[in-house]
Amino acid sequence: MFEMAVETSRGAEDIICELIEKSFSARTVGEQKEILQHKKPQPKLGPRTANRQFQDACYAKKEWLCGSTNVQRLFCWPCLLFAPGKSQMWTRQGYANMRCFLSDCRKHGRWNCHLEAYKKWKTFDATERVVILFSRARREEVQRNNEQVRQNTETLKTISEAILFLNKQELAFRCHDESRDGLNKGNYWELLECFAKYDLFLNVISIGS
Ligand SMILES: [Zn+2]
Repeated sequence: MFEMAVETSRGAEDIICELIEKSFSARTVGEQKEILQHKKPQPKLGPRTANRQFQDACYAKKEWLCGSTNVQRLFCWPCLLFAPGKSQMWTRQGYANMRCFLSDCRKHGRWNCHLEAYKKWKTFDATERVVILFSRARREEVQRNNEQVRQNTETLKTISEAILFLNKQELAFRCHDESRDGLNKGNYWELLECFAKYDLFLNVISIGS
């Protein structure tokens, strides 16, 4: 079922006229994203469209077709974005000859420049999504690594404190029975276990040893 999608969010602005004045490629990345976030303009065109009334249903049949409210003509949305000027008819003047509409649409749809522009249009958004996903995953990975380094540094500090303490007090590090179930595992492990009560990460190491 054809969905009437008259561009209303832009108010009186006509993005097609704006793109003719300032091309898509000359705009900032932010502007480009903003343009692509909106549906291509598909306004209901009035009787000025030419000798035969344009049927709104054509917007649904030709995915690339868009219309300008201001000039009351049809344009090719991907060519307007990615191949402006290549086709004067579909990106500058606008199309209005409804008597040859279907055959001209077929002809334009098979044109190499159009196919290239269409491909860019379809991949632009997908590429943008992939870039965002990759940068987010990379950022999360760096954050995880930074946190791991911080934890390791803190744990090493605690272990160093234990070693320094035993050295300073001239206490033996080990004893004859360092098994996990032993009553006395030696000064080193006993001290680490004591510290581990207050250090979650050291606790993990101590339990795992
Ligand atoms: Zn085109």
